[in-house]
Amino acid sequence: MPALQGSIEKRFGIIGYPLKHSLSPLMHNKSFEYFGLPYRYETLETEPTNLNKALSTYIEQGFYGFNVTIPFKEAILPLIHHLSDEAKAIGAVNTIHITSEGWLGYNTDAYGVLRSLEPYKDDIHNANVLILGAGGAARAVVYILAHYFSPQTITIAARNIQRAQALSSLLPRNSGIFFQHVFETNEDLKIAVLTSKLIINTTPVGMYPEINACPLPADVSLGSKHIVFDVIYRPLKTSLLKKAEEAKAQVVNGLPMLVYQGAEAFKIWTGKEMPVPLVFQHLKEALQTELQN
Ligand code: NAP
Repeated sequence: MPALQGSIEKRFGIIGYPLKHSLSPLMHNKSFEYFGLPYRYETLETEPTNLNKALSTYIEQGFYGFNVTIPFKEAILPLIHHLSDEAKAIGAVNTIHITSEGWLGYNTDAYGVLRSLEPYKDDIHNANVLILGAGGAARAVVYILAHYFSPQTITIAARNIQRAQALSSLLPRNSGIFFQHVFETNEDLKIAVLTSKLIINTTPVGMYPEINACPLPADVSLGSKHIVFDVIYRPLKTSLLKKAEEAKAQVVNGLPMLVYQGAEAFKIWTGKEMPVPLVFQHLKEALQTELQN
């Protein structure tokens, strides 16, 4: 945004490591420009050993808000002065607001998941759900499913059994949801796929540049009864979603999650509603251009 150079009143940024391919600067700078706000959003690649000092330095330099991504979503918790109820329950922060009352921490990934799955609410109610992966994104997914969608079962397919089992603490007490873990390579996974209505990939398998990788083994079939949600947005159509489309399943890519978590962060920082249709269009064009290059 060269026109604003020299007159920037507030700076915002995304903290992560490594941070080559974030779309967040495009999304937020487009929204600042839409409202004529003299703000700028930047990429802040931050060494993992340096988080506390780096954050203080950014704030001294005029940063008022941050998004937080891999590997800091959990590590940043002890540095935050006030956590939102959702960030506390999920155990991860992806948005920080620096205010006179302190550093406030939120988890807006949860809202991104909610908006992505909302159109399928009736399908998910009392259904079996399979989640691939047990990291930060999976925590937001399990929290939202358990609090807003009342599925019958949640099965986690993950290679790390401790991380998978820890997700059960996100279920409300007496939720009645049956929770189980399966390893992502054995027969149990096939059964879980066969019996699930909704399958959600929260692993990075299939993300650019490894776009031919698929988080489901080749001999696992999908069908037209499935809804398949891949939280990856680079590429928009992952190998998993291609496989799902070929089987005539319904598919959801990671772009709505990205945009709605961003919209919620934008509202926290500015009090304004992000121009969501404009941002969707802007990001789709950027992703299309990337595909052509
Ligand atoms: P994370 O905390 O590192 O968790 C990743 C999970 O995937 C872990 O369970 C990990 O297992 C598993 N995994 C990683 N590589 C794997 C492999 N080769 N085979 C099987 N399992 C594997 O990461 P995250 O923050 O949840 O992010 C995961 C993905 O979600 C990334 O692609 C990220 O870009 C995407 N995401 C998208 C949005 C959005 O707005 N659309 C928001 C957040 C995240 P281990 O624990 O055993 O390593």
